[in-house]
Amino acid sequence: MKIDQNAVKILKKSRGGIGISIFLVETHTHLDLIKRSTEEVVEEAAQKGVTKMVTIGIDLESSKTALKFASRWEGVYAAVGFHPHEAKFLEEKNWEELQKLAREGGDRIVAIGETGLDYYRKHSPISCQVEAFKKQIGLAKKLNLPLIIHSREAHQDTLKILAEEARGLKVIIHCFSGDGELAEECLKRGYYLGIGGVVTFDNAKNIRTVVEQIPLDHIVLETDSPYLAPHPFRGKPNEPRYLPLIAEKIAELKKISLEEVAKITSTNCKKILGI
Ligand SMILES: [Zn+2]
Ligand SMILES: [Zn+2]
Repeated sequence: MKIDQNAVKILKKSRGGIGISIFLVETHTHLDLIKRSTEEVVEEAAQKGVTKMVTIGIDLESSKTALKFASRWEGVYAAVGFHPHEAKFLEEKNWEELQKLAREGGDRIVAIGETGLDYYRKHSPISCQVEAFKKQIGLAKKLNLPLIIHSREAHQDTLKILAEEARGLKVIIHCFSGDGELAEECLKRGYYLGIGGVVTFDNAKNIRTVVEQIPLDHIVLETDSPYLAPHPFRGKPNEPRYLPLIAEKIAELKKISLEEVAKITSTNCKKILGI
């Protein structure tokens, strides 16, 4: 697909007048669900150094919108898929269209997702979620694309299905919410963990321990905006421009510089998403 000539200019963030530039990659936002001008959201993120982002589909409509945004701005890429909440709507017609979209999006589509299992809300019956999950793993295989996984209170089943169906595929477990043991299992398999705003919450000791424990070369940054805004914006609408707050928290926990967090997580994105 062609990039719009009016692509947003990538702006550098200067720190302390000494010209250090920080570039961050946002691996999980829902631009279509943010209730502000998308143009402003993308530009303001770029001003904060968030120069690349993946906007994530949750159903057919939002996957189409994701691709539309990805063809409008050079720094915006799309993931297309059906969220486990929406799994019950992945009937034959939608499935055909999703596959078509994924094929026709070309290099603007960098992943399939989000897909996975959510046993917390169960907006779709578990059997539907499992079926939709397996179908989308198949699509990722066919197109040789990475998977962006949503797993909430369903970690054992999610990992089991991935082990059985997704061998050889690159995987991001987005908004990682497991314990240290689960993180180790993911690392053993070569998966990447998406770390978001929760890491900045006072009551999120578990996830902070996980971040301290796992090597940075398996972490990617995400906001999951408009949800889960980091401190001090907790409870307010989230946006990609808050991503540096998450990177700063990770730098603090790992006792390294923000520059290093930016460099390594960006390298990870290159490896897994090719962006
Ligand atoms: Zn999710
Ligand atoms: Zn999401």
